[in-house]
Amino acid sequence: MPSRRTARVGDLTLGGGAPIVLQSMTNTDPRDAEATAAQALALAEAGCDMVRIAVPDLDAAAATREVRRRLGRLPLVADVHYDHRVAVAVAPYVDKIRLNPGTLRGRAALDDVAKALRDHGTALRIGANSGSLPPGFEAPPHLLPTRLCDAVADWVARFEDAGCEDLVVSVKATSTTATLAACREAARRFDHPLHIGLTEAGTARTGAIRSAAILGALLAEGVGDTIRVSLAGDPIEEVRVGQEILRSLGLRPEADRVLACPTCGRARMDVAVVAATVEAALGTRRGTRTVAVMGCEVNGPGEARHADMAIVGTRDGAAFYRGGKVVLQGTADEALKALIAALDDGIPAHD
Ligand code: SF4
Repeated sequence: MPSRRTARVGDLTLGGGAPIVLQSMTNTDPRDAEATAAQALALAEAGCDMVRIAVPDLDAAAATREVRRRLGRLPLVADVHYDHRVAVAVAPYVDKIRLNPGTLRGRAALDDVAKALRDHGTALRIGANSGSLPPGFEAPPHLLPTRLCDAVADWVARFEDAGCEDLVVSVKATSTTATLAACREAARRFDHPLHIGLTEAGTARTGAIRSAAILGALLAEGVGDTIRVSLAGDPIEEVRVGQEILRSLGLRPEADRVLACPTCGRARMDVAVVAATVEAALGTRRGTRTVAVMGCEVNGPGEARHADMAIVGTRDGAAFYRGGKVVLQGTADEALKALIAALDDGIPAHD
């Protein structure tokens, strides 16, 4: 059940059955426009559709003007808390502002923000978090999903009354079960585009697993119009994980992919190292090629015949397969070099 309404965010459409939008967030100093723009462009290069930056104060809002100039039309979102003047100041330079009902208060402040949004055609995400519910919305754990939605509903009504149309909503908690329940309730209660994600998911490994579990469940039910994977670490990794989640569900064009056997005592080469090298060489190439990296002759030749390219460990080293046939026998290094050269040639594996 994709949202019934849509929201325009720059050139993107969120909701209404549009493709799921993948977003991430920079972690540079937002007053450093050069570094922030460079990281935003790197995120876009990795596959990020929309980039959010923290805008903590008026200096950062001023710097966002230069970030905007360097990014061209890349959809840009400002994350603002506490000071409504920052939201007003940054509205001309971004496509969407994210505000939290728990960190911004006052009727006059919201009116000023609503006017800035209308004046500049800037969208708004109203995002409630379990760690910052507004006064009067606090709740015991079993009521948390409903109270998160209540806090969002309160602001949706206010901004709609003020004439703002491009609204996105989100409800996030650190608990996966609370976030699941909150997002399902939000999908029932709001017809606005829904941003989904697990807040403070964790480090690269645990955060990726927890995010995949929750985003996979929601997206498979049709809940969610835009996602962010929140990881403590390099935001490029967030984009890689997000892309993989979307691809796994058929919600993103396929990319070349690496299959690798889990290895065992029979392995005749270091499968993990070879597979990681191949994966790094593939990078974010769009495509549908499958590359198999297999440790030995038990399952190797069979998988290699089905893959577009493969490296299989052999008694004497390794074999490089292309189009299901052995085209080189040598050391694992020689097979790897031949495979990477074939990728760089851009020649389809099945001639
Ligand atoms: S392909 Fe060979 S090395 Fe890999 S898991 Fe199977 S038996 Fe073990």
